[in-house]
Amino acid sequence: MEVYLIAKSQPIYHTISQWLSKHHVDYKPTTTHSTEAIAEYAGRVCYDSFANPRPGGTQAYLQNILKQGHGSVLEHCVYTFAFVGLSRVCTHELVRHRAGFSYSQRSQRYCDEGCMNVVDPLQGIEIGDKLREEIRECIDKSRELYDKICSLLEREGYQRKVVRSVARYFLPQGISTEIVVTANARSWRHFLETRGSRHADREIRLLANKVLDKLLEDSPNLFGDYKREPLGDGTCEITTEWEKV
Ligand SMILES: Cc1cc2nc3c(=O)[nH]c(=O)nc-3n(C[C@H](O)[C@H](O)[C@H](O)COP(=O)(O)OP(=O)(O)OC[C@H]3O[C@@H](n4cnc5c(N)ncnc54)[C@H](O)[C@@H]3O)c2cc1C
Repeated sequence: MEVYLIAKSQPIYHTISQWLSKHHVDYKPTTTHSTEAIAEYAGRVCYDSFANPRPGGTQAYLQNILKQGHGSVLEHCVYTFAFVGLSRVCTHELVRHRAGFSYSQRSQRYCDEGCMNVVDPLQGIEIGDKLREEIRECIDKSRELYDKICSLLEREGYQRKVVRSVARYFLPQGISTEIVVTANARSWRHFLETRGSRHADREIRLLANKVLDKLLEDSPNLFGDYKREPLGDGTCEITTEWEKV
C-alpha cells in the first residue's frame, strides 16, 4: 500500500496582509508549516487575538485549540491523498467516513481489471503452502473468468462499459484499487482515531498509520498529540487524550 500526500491548503500571505491591515496588525505565525498557519489565522479571528499574542507561538496556540476542542478551526486545513494498492474491502470502510471527506476512486465500469492484483491480508499469519497455492489458483481463476466474460460479451456486441460493468461482479473483494481522498484536519483526526483503533481492521489501521506519518511531517502541531502503540501485526494503535475535537 502506498500513500501520497498530493495537495494541501496554502495561505496567500499578501492577501492575508491586506486583510490584517484592517485589524492594524501584520501577524505572521511562528510555524514553518503552511497548513498550520491557516488554522492559527482562523482561530485568532475568533477572539481578535492578533495583537499581543501569548508566548509559545503556533505550537502553544494550536495545542490549546486541540485541548479546548475548538475543532472548527481545523476544518480550514485541507489535505488530499492518493492511496494506491489498497483493497476494495479497505476502501469500502474508508468511504463510510462522510463528514468533510471527498472521494474519487478507480472505476471498475471504465477500467479494465484483467490484470488485477489482490491485496494479501495474511501478513504474519501462517497458513501453509497448500492453502497459499489454492488462493493463488483461485485468483488466477478469477482473472480468467473476468477475461472470459469480457471476451464473450464483446463478441456479442455489447458496449465496453456494459461489458466491464457486468464482469466486475465476479471479481474478488480484495482486489487492489486506487483512490484520491480529500478531507480537512478535523475529519482526518476522526479517521485516525476510529481506524487507528485496535478494534479496526488491520488494513485500514495500516492506512491510518501511513496517513499519520504524512500528516505529522506536514503539520506536527495539528497531529503531534497522537501516541502509537505497536500491536505486533506491523501496525500501531493510534490514541490521543484529545479525541474528536
Ligand atoms: C471498529 C469498527 C467497526 C465497525 N463496524 C461496522 C459494522 O459492522 N457495520 C457498519 O455498517 N459499520 C461499521 N463501522 C463503521 C462505522 O459505523 C462508521 O460508519 C465509520 O467508522 C465512520 O464513522 P463516522 O460516522 O463517525 O464518520 P463520519 O461519517 O466522517 O462522521 C463524523 C462524525 O460526524 C457526525 N455525523 C456524521 N453524519 C451524521 C449523521 N447523519 N447524523 C448525526 N451525526 C453525524 C458524527 O458525530 C460522526 O462521528 C465500524 C467502524 C469501526 C471503527
